[in-house]
Amino acid sequence: MKYAAIQNYVNGQFVTPSSNRTLEVISPVDGKLLSTVPMSSAKDLDAAVKAAKAAFPAWSRTPIKERVQVFFRYKTLLEKHLKELAELCSEENGKTYGESVAEIEKCIELTEFATSLPQLVTGEVLEVSKGVECRTEHVPLGVVASIVPFNFPAMVPNWTIPNAIALGNCMIIKPSEKVPLSCGRLAELLKEAGLPDGVFNIVHGDVEIVEAICDHPGIEAVSFVGSTKVARIVYQRATSQFKRCLALGGAKNHLMVLPDAKPDMTAQNVAASMSGCAGQRCMAASAMVAVGEVDHIISKICDEARKIVPGENLGAVISKESKARIEGYISEAEKNGAKILVDGRGAKVNGKENGTYVGPTVIDYVTPDMSVAKEEIFGPVISIMRTKTVDEALAIENANPYGNAASVFTQNGGMARYIIDRASAGMIGVNVGVPVPREPFSFGGWNESKFGVGDITGKSSIEFWTKLKKSTTKWNPEAGVNWMS
Ligand code: NAD
Repeated sequence: MKYAAIQNYVNGQFVTPSSNRTLEVISPVDGKLLSTVPMSSAKDLDAAVKAAKAAFPAWSRTPIKERVQVFFRYKTLLEKHLKELAELCSEENGKTYGESVAEIEKCIELTEFATSLPQLVTGEVLEVSKGVECRTEHVPLGVVASIVPFNFPAMVPNWTIPNAIALGNCMIIKPSEKVPLSCGRLAELLKEAGLPDGVFNIVHGDVEIVEAICDHPGIEAVSFVGSTKVARIVYQRATSQFKRCLALGGAKNHLMVLPDAKPDMTAQNVAASMSGCAGQRCMAASAMVAVGEVDHIISKICDEARKIVPGENLGAVISKESKARIEGYISEAEKNGAKILVDGRGAKVNGKENGTYVGPTVIDYVTPDMSVAKEEIFGPVISIMRTKTVDEALAIENANPYGNAASVFTQNGGMARYIIDRASAGMIGVNVGVPVPREPFSFGGWNESKFGVGDITGKSSIEFWTKLKKSTTKWNPEAGVNWMS
């Protein structure tokens, strides 16, 4: 085992949980055992909530301009340890080193945004009547929880950590049991940056701990990022306990390629979108709708896909089960009459025979009823459907129950606007394969890709992590008596 057994992090210390149930943490890169992760119990969660509650009064009363000083230092530490954090991320998740570097750079950008929060939460004051002032303030909620998935071991935790904590909350994070190592390192850096003990805590575990988070009376709000199946469960359970909840789910993102699209640029973007992070991104292109005559572009997409080599510029998928599931989707599509133009099944990497790799896969002549057209595959696979018109393409995009992202490739601005207006997704790209909004814009999908109000990052997250206090004050004795006295 490369690393010591993982522990929870409570009140600024790594602690052994009460339960002795553990799972193995296996590197998808080569199948090696990295560590073990504890499956904590409700008792362990309780200890973390107590620590967070104890830290809350002092932290929430610290002025925000002082709170963000921690995140200026944290940003510097992320920069200083970028290489080491990226290596750890690749090791536990399987993505390429370059992708992990980009992930840590995104953590830096997210932290940079948090340092700008004092400029954004100044509140409002107005003299609403002679001598009478109304004022609004963003007040932290208390103890909040963040439940995160496997596909971005550092970035998704940093979607929530800097903003929620800079806004004055104390946090408990539940990392994915598949990639639990990065969060521990983030805890050490937060401590080094001067975050007081108890403000940030980690409780490792699985279903049991997620249920305990939803039920715990000391937790005010729960953010969740993961599959739609679990997002639905968490949203329902947390809100039934009268908690605020924002639960981001899975995706099936459509790229619409029009005949006037620039062939080289489109092919490069489509191939990069479907294969980046081995297709394990909620923003990955998973379905492509080829509108009209675009065979010349499809042929270039295949050329680009063939340049993507597992173990070189393509990382591993998370587990043996994922590899089997993804390859099963490809085989089922083939059996149902789709044409496999580039086949990533059975990929092997020399010297990493126990790694879990799937090569880039392009499937053509997919019909909308096939499972590769409808379901989230979460692998480096693109399913191409063909339509004669843009409206038929939009009908396919609109019919899918998810709504994270959609993109169009065209040189026609009017047509792009037509699609922006009609696609049923929260994040739309024009000639962009992965239309992730950069800070300060917020990240969040629609439909079954997100349950709850608002978005998880950027300006929109301020509403989620705070509540508004409205005060009405009258200090001027001459203000007299009126209807609001
Ligand atoms: P997952 O839903 O299996 O797990 C997410 C979290 O929920 C983990 O911490 C896990 O321990 C916990 N969990 C798993 N099963 C549970 C259950 N039955 N009850 C309670 N908790 C449970 O997701 P994953 O496989 O880790 O991540 C991949 C999924 O996340 C994909 O569907 C992807 O699209 C989605 N995702 C979405 C976004 C977004 O912004 N919408 C971002 C990243 C990932």
